[in-house]
Amino acid sequence: MSSVAIKSTEEIVSCSDNGQHPLIYISLKPGHGQCQYCGQKFIRTTTTDSASTEKKAA
Ligand SMILES: [Zn+2]
Repeated sequence: MSSVAIKSTEEIVSCSDNGQHPLIYISLKPGHGQCQYCGQKFIRTTTTDSASTEKKAA
């Protein structure tokens, strides 16, 4: 099991663990979610957040 959370800008993400379990959809409206089958964690992010991470000191 991977402990790395998958980041998504979507409110709903899907997970099937590469076909290892039935495809399910997980709501990220609370800001995060977790697959009930494989335990994969998902974090909802926004494009504005990613922009700030690329900020560099001039
Ligand atoms: Zn899963």
